[in-house]
Amino acid sequence: MPESRIKSTKLQNFAHRAGSSREPFLMQDIIQLLPDSIANQIAAGEVVQRPASVVKELLENAIDAGAKNIQLIVRDAGKTLIQVIDDGAGMSEMDARMCFERHATSKIRRSEDLFTIRTLGFRGEALASIAAVAQVELRTRRAADELGTLIRIEGSEVRTHEAVACLPGTNFCIKNLFFNVPARRNFLRSNAVEMRHILDEFGRVALAHPEIALSLYQNDLETYNLTGGKLVHRIAGIFGKNCREHLSPCQEETGLVKVTGYIGKPEYCRKTRGEQFFFVNDRYVRHSYLHHAVMTAYEGLLPAESFPFYTLFIYIDPVHIDINVHPTKTEIKFDDERAVYAVIQAAVKRALSVYSLSPSLDFELNANHWGLPYGQKNFTPSPPPPESSVVDKSGNAKPPTRNWAALYDEFQQKFPEEQIQPQPAAPSELTFGSRINLLPEGRQPGRHLRPEGEPATFQLHHQYIVTQVKSGMMIIDQAAAHERILYEKYLASLEKGNGGSQQLLFPERVSLNPADYQLLTEMKEEIRNLGFGFDVTDRHTVVVRAIPAEVTAGKEKALLEGLIEQFKWHQAELNLGRKENIARSLAHRSALKHGVRLSLTEMTTLIDQLFASSNPNYSPDGTPTLHMLTTEKITSFFAR
Ligand code: ADP
Ligand code: MG
Repeated sequence: MPESRIKSTKLQNFAHRAGSSREPFLMQDIIQLLPDSIANQIAAGEVVQRPASVVKELLENAIDAGAKNIQLIVRDAGKTLIQVIDDGAGMSEMDARMCFERHATSKIRRSEDLFTIRTLGFRGEALASIAAVAQVELRTRRAADELGTLIRIEGSEVRTHEAVACLPGTNFCIKNLFFNVPARRNFLRSNAVEMRHILDEFGRVALAHPEIALSLYQNDLETYNLTGGKLVHRIAGIFGKNCREHLSPCQEETGLVKVTGYIGKPEYCRKTRGEQFFFVNDRYVRHSYLHHAVMTAYEGLLPAESFPFYTLFIYIDPVHIDINVHPTKTEIKFDDERAVYAVIQAAVKRALSVYSLSPSLDFELNANHWGLPYGQKNFTPSPPPPESSVVDKSGNAKPPTRNWAALYDEFQQKFPEEQIQPQPAAPSELTFGSRINLLPEGRQPGRHLRPEGEPATFQLHHQYIVTQVKSGMMIIDQAAAHERILYEKYLASLEKGNGGSQQLLFPERVSLNPADYQLLTEMKEEIRNLGFGFDVTDRHTVVVRAIPAEVTAGKEKALLEGLIEQFKWHQAELNLGRKENIARSLAHRSALKHGVRLSLTEMTTLIDQLFASSNPNYSPDGTPTLHMLTTEKITSFFAR
């Protein structure tokens, strides 16, 4: 029905009822049960938000069906096609029809089962919801059956139901998602954005099940082909081979809970929270309280504003958790959250201390398997204390926990904190004066700040610029100030599309993981406007030919990766507009850092440019760029 007609009928009904209110009250019942197709569409609103939600549900179903090999095929970022093929148990003819009914599930039968869930699905609403808002084709066969079943269902209506010859297992094709809900379809974001959500889901499922072979085809191109194996191989398969040397295995167990997985060494920290995963009984969950446990374990080991990598599996008896908090099942409640917190914190602390004592870990170890010795050679753990430092309130008998606390203390005594802090960049001579020398014509450096003829400006510890001003002295944070300057410059270039560029003598190849590559394509236009020049060679590698004029050459790879990372972080945390985000990200990554020695001209140029900016007092993220110490204040120090 056209919208205008819907509106007018509603209005008439309303007028009719309003008018009838003075008439004798009609004793008519007005409540009706919604037809299934509408009920399913409403449910779909919660379960199926975007193509990535369909991907998640289908992959989880395949895993629940015991598949060992799963193939995911998407077209147009899942908008026209999402296909999942598995070699799992398959379905009988009856089940193939039943699976599209709401609340139809093979995974629980009684309400008690809700407390012992070991499968990923159990609500029986995913397929019903998907079939309500898409055109679905299902081919499925159990190994023992001779023929399989083909079902076509469209907006909850079954169109085909027949026998078909097919491979054992299940093959779901979801076509034209939201074909019958134009409002939802229009709400979908660009292919690049939707594809990134799919890659995120795929990555999470792949991490949770390293033993299952998973591949992903994107418009016929193979993006991932992950063989089944150890967790560490899976992590490398998803995040790139280079990350392997930066991982440290992590495990801890009490009677209540077992934690296992890998954490990133401090030097592998990221500017984004993206690469942090908790899996509870192999299900991906978000949990800010447990995240906090990990972060406190890293305390003092990470530079500010950075996030460690972690992939941690928590195994706990399902009676101690409630996963039925939200239809997407990514939230979870533990009946004893504090105990789980303590175990996670202990596990991470110990992994950190062990790695520091013994840098050469054997990364072939599989942290999936319990009780493996760590690879360190000359390290003998001190005897466990009489009482475990890990809280266990479950009342169960506690197996002896390894004494991480003592270990950690011992390690801290041996290696005081500064030794394990990432080394600050060695002071280096900066060429930025020549590059950034963009002083407006006819202006003298620092002229408006300094009283005439008194060049009282110096650099403090290669971090701060101290300069004399009329009312006293000003201390400028060189990093924050430069970030402010670059940010405004980049923002202007993005608006006008005229960022200056420097060609590289030797173009540099940068290989990116598929998710980052996707993001780069999303911001391609903008970063070209900033002055980047690059070609795409294959689907994971770009060749950087030119970089923005202001950026020091020689760090193209780090810069591009840093830009993407920062962009992700901003996107997750701040929800910035794209241009704003790109300008901020690049400014943050390319701004000069603490530890860089500046010449007098460079300092005065920086001060001048800072004061030519629209907001000299703060860097784009709101940290102050400068502090004033007035002569009055200084006098007060010495007041008699
Ligand atoms: P749930 O996973 O919560 O049970 P779904 O709507 O996702 O609900 O699926 C309904 C049922 O269909 C499942 O319980 C399962 O029995 C069956 N099913 C779905 N996908 C598959 C598959 N890939 N292989 C075998 N059976 C499946
Ligand atoms: Mg399911």
